[in-house]
Amino acid sequence: MANDQTPVDRFLADPNNLTLLGTSTCRATNTECPICHEASPHSTESDTQIVKTTCDHTFHRECLVTWLQSLKNRDGTCPSCRAVLYRGLSTARLTDQEMEEENRELGLLMEQVQTQLAMVGERLRALRSRRRSRN
Ligand SMILES: [Zn+2]
Ligand SMILES: [Zn+2]
Repeated sequence: MANDQTPVDRFLADPNNLTLLGTSTCRATNTECPICHEASPHSTESDTQIVKTTCDHTFHRECLVTWLQSLKNRDGTCPSCRAVLYRGLSTARLTDQEMEEENRELGLLMEQVQTQLAMVGERLRALRSRRRSRN
């Protein structure tokens, strides 16, 4: 049932929401992913997809998805400019004070996401160098 989809699923399912960039484009523009702060390193790997949002910001697909999923049912915002990419389930208007708290919380969330991604990246690098030294 389509109703089981979270707002993130629905957003990712629509190809109009994210533009997939080719690896060569990314190498040419030397894009840095604002979430994990890794520049081209993992964009040179064929298994990494780079996407552009409608607000013109570029991310590793994996990083952006991790970020959006950690927002759960909130509005999906661009990690770079905070533009709302899609509406979450709660549509309540926030007061200025609530907004401030929300922003603080989002900041903490971003730190968690970055730590998580850094750990995954480290593990991958370790695996790869082990594989390389065996050859
Ligand atoms: Zn990234
Ligand atoms: Zn943006």
